[in-house]
Amino acid sequence: MTRFDALVVGAGPAGSTAARELAAAGARVLIVDRAEFPRYKACGGGIPLRTERLLPFPIDSVVEDSVSLLEVANQGRDRFVRDASTPFAHMVMRERFDALLLEQARKAGAQFRPGTTVRALHRDGGVRIEADGFEAEAPLLVCADGAHSPVGKMAGLGEGFAECAAWEVELCVAASRLERYRARALIELGYFPWGYAWLFPKRDVLSIGLVLPPGQAGALKQGTKVFIDRLGLSGFEAGVSRGHKIRFRRGNERVADGNVLLAGDAAGLADEFTQEGIYYAIESGRMAARNVLRAAAGNGDLAPYQRDIDDQIMPELRAARLIGFTFYGMLRRAARPWMFASAHTPYLWNAFFAVQRGESTYAREAARVPLLPAIASRMLKD
Ligand SMILES: Cc1cc2nc3c(=O)[nH]c(=O)nc-3n(C[C@H](O)[C@H](O)[C@H](O)COP(=O)(O)OP(=O)(O)OC[C@H]3O[C@@H](n4cnc5c(N)ncnc54)[C@H](O)[C@@H]3O)c2cc1C
Repeated sequence: MTRFDALVVGAGPAGSTAARELAAAGARVLIVDRAEFPRYKACGGGIPLRTERLLPFPIDSVVEDSVSLLEVANQGRDRFVRDASTPFAHMVMRERFDALLLEQARKAGAQFRPGTTVRALHRDGGVRIEADGFEAEAPLLVCADGAHSPVGKMAGLGEGFAECAAWEVELCVAASRLERYRARALIELGYFPWGYAWLFPKRDVLSIGLVLPPGQAGALKQGTKVFIDRLGLSGFEAGVSRGHKIRFRRGNERVADGNVLLAGDAAGLADEFTQEGIYYAIESGRMAARNVLRAAAGNGDLAPYQRDIDDQIMPELRAARLIGFTFYGMLRRAARPWMFASAHTPYLWNAFFAVQRGESTYAREAARVPLLPAIASRMLKD
């Protein structure tokens, strides 16, 4: 059996970031993933610009487009476009983006073992993972195995999160249609009680998808088709189309225990306004690495990681949730006036663009409206 200083399960943004930072600090780290890489991941691939600041290497080589225009409609009506002047988000294909993050982890010295599905976890002193015909052990484990988090469950962590589901289609369209959406993200509202469809431009395809609340996963595929029809894109061939769940940590659910911690989607770190998770996956991957190094140099306990998540990520997720509930609540109560107000209140979208660029935070923007928690909880009851 091979021994390491730390094991990482899952080579998505959370796992690769943790592995890279651990290896860069001199740790002997193994990262395993059940998939062969590059691998597809159901995802819009919209990355807020602020993500770049978390990474010590350029991502230009995998950026397919950068968007500065946001087009918003309500079931095809009340359409408006906000121009942010300069990009607020990058668009990537996850197989290429994740492969870049993994390559950087390997460059830093992390060992990678693809095609390795962890089927059992033993925690007797250290941590031992078992896959088919393979075992590895280490004192500490970063569990970055995504929203279903099978290994997190084996550790008894990550229970009790809220969740929703999303569906994604890569549509191969004519060049003229690609041109129509260059530098432009389209968001379609009007789903009950909340949710949105998106169209994100990529170099050769349009990424189109739909996110809906829990209990509506069965409506995702058909809802995406209706959206594609409404856009006049139904004649084009759909490449991959796939769904996945997204989880949300709202309270104090445990994300660390002794020698195991959860990062990224495994820890429910996606926001409830935009349902984005890549930024938080990378941020928590960095925190995971710092805590593993601290624990390795100290008493071997990863409990302080949970405090870091509570202090540094949760205020942002809580604020995003309040903003999301208020936004969708207003839309439910008075769709047309709210769309009109949204279109004619540049402040709202400028604040959103500032958050996306890392010039502000959801927490700072939410604090500007002291009554927001009361308004949001009222909206929840509608
Ligand atoms: C349809 C859809 C659209 C989305 N769009 C966006 C978006 O536009 N922007 C955004 O920021 N976020 C988006 N998200 C959320 C985003 O995809 C996630 O937040 C992000 O992938 C989290 O990264 P991660 O590293 O935590 O997990 P993942 O990227 O899911 O990686 C987990 C890895 O763990 C591996 N794994 C799982 N189980 C095992 C096991 N037993 N053994 C070994 N390996 C295992 C998997 O193979 C996988 O590679 C979207 C989600 C969905 C479902």
